[in-house]
Amino acid sequence: MDDDQEFRREIRDWLAANVTDELRGAGGAGRENEAFEQRRDFARRLAAAGWSTLAWPVEHGGQGASLARQVIFHEEYARSGAPGRVDHIGLTMVGPTLIGLGSDRQRKRFLPGIAAATELWCQGYSEPGAGSDLAAVTTRARLDGAQWVITGQKVWTSLAHVADWCFMLVRTAPVPAGASRHAGLSYLLVPMRQAGVTVRPIRQLTGDSEFNEVFFDEARTERDLVVGEPGQGWRVAMATLGFERGAATVGQQVGFQRDLDDLVTLARRTGAADDPAVRERLTRAWIDLTVLRAHTLRVLAAPPATGTATVIKLLWSRWRQGLGDLAMTVLGPRGIAPAPGDDEADRWRRLFLFSRADTIYGGSNEIQRGILAERVLGLPRQDRR
Ligand SMILES: Cc1cc2nc3c(=O)[nH]c(=O)nc-3n(C[C@H](O)[C@H](O)[C@H](O)COP(=O)(O)OP(=O)(O)OC[C@H]3O[C@@H](n4cnc5c(N)ncnc54)[C@H](O)[C@@H]3O)c2cc1C
Repeated sequence: MDDDQEFRREIRDWLAANVTDELRGAGGAGRENEAFEQRRDFARRLAAAGWSTLAWPVEHGGQGASLARQVIFHEEYARSGAPGRVDHIGLTMVGPTLIGLGSDRQRKRFLPGIAAATELWCQGYSEPGAGSDLAAVTTRARLDGAQWVITGQKVWTSLAHVADWCFMLVRTAPVPAGASRHAGLSYLLVPMRQAGVTVRPIRQLTGDSEFNEVFFDEARTERDLVVGEPGQGWRVAMATLGFERGAATVGQQVGFQRDLDDLVTLARRTGAADDPAVRERLTRAWIDLTVLRAHTLRVLAAPPATGTATVIKLLWSRWRQGLGDLAMTVLGPRGIAPAPGDDEADRWRRLFLFSRADTIYGGSNEIQRGILAERVLGLPRQDRR
């Protein structure tokens, strides 16, 4: 326990010394491209100081830190106003997947670059005809000697414009007669910087471009850069999704608390807090966040039960959308069309607009409720043929 306090002091001191004014708050919701180079440098310094891979096992280059320490790290990180991470897809998705299901050679080749933030990753699952229904992916790969040759299109690929590598779900064999569509899919690791890969940014509501269309036209990767067996990629793809959050959720909620505190301050300053309806909504937001944090900590401390991660995703995505709506009420017309240079209004407008995506990515809220209906409540399965 005392050691944990010492650990908290250490990370707090490190962040105080390294989070410059330029970095503070950069890269928040809807501002993914802000100060990108500086944030990448920061991620590399964070990694060099040993803070990036707390959750990874020691034998794979991590710190094997206790859950309590991971929570402390994420709390302090969020409290310090440290910037949005550029390396989270590697650290929390493909890294743990390789640790659990990759080959020795894949681990040796990729884990050091992920840990050091020298190689950034993106996730190539969704396609124009395959989002919630992920097994419908049609991007295909065939073997040509010692290489896979990949053709097709991915979409909504976050950070593809800065990524060095992409982990992808592709079809490598037709669905065997009578088998489920999950058969014949493979999980490939594909270099992004090659002639056969074209990245086209998609302009979002916020005006920024965080995600992209990615076209694969006879793109290539080595034969042994398939994770798990060829044709068995569905299991690997689902394992990656299972790794997505963990202790980082607590840090995210510390950030939510800061957003709420800032909104309360703004509402007092503008006089919006004199409106009884605004006061009630601010108070409700505080209560809901308090309950969400208590629930998250309880879930993290207990053995995982079916549906608990899903409940947290449903609650936080709705909470942040509610905060965005409330911010627009507090700001009034100023929030709808911020004057040039009105950074305060711009921050809330971006949060409001970006939070529309919170109930879509990582599995839409409708899909999450469907999972709870079937797996927790035991309701009849939906027909998905
Ligand atoms: C900000 C952002 C970042 C993203 N980043 C990535 C990324 O990096 N890599 C990646 O691969 N993907 C990414 N995505 C894509 C995301 O995973 C998909 O948008 C999501 O899975 C939904 O798929 P879809 O957009 O094709 O919508 P659809 O699946 O077409 O769904 C449309 C609507 O129908 C509803 N619906 C669909 N099926 C059912 C059902 N069975 N029951 C009830 N309702 C249903 C959905 O809930 C939704 O409201 C990102 C998306 C966003 C918004």
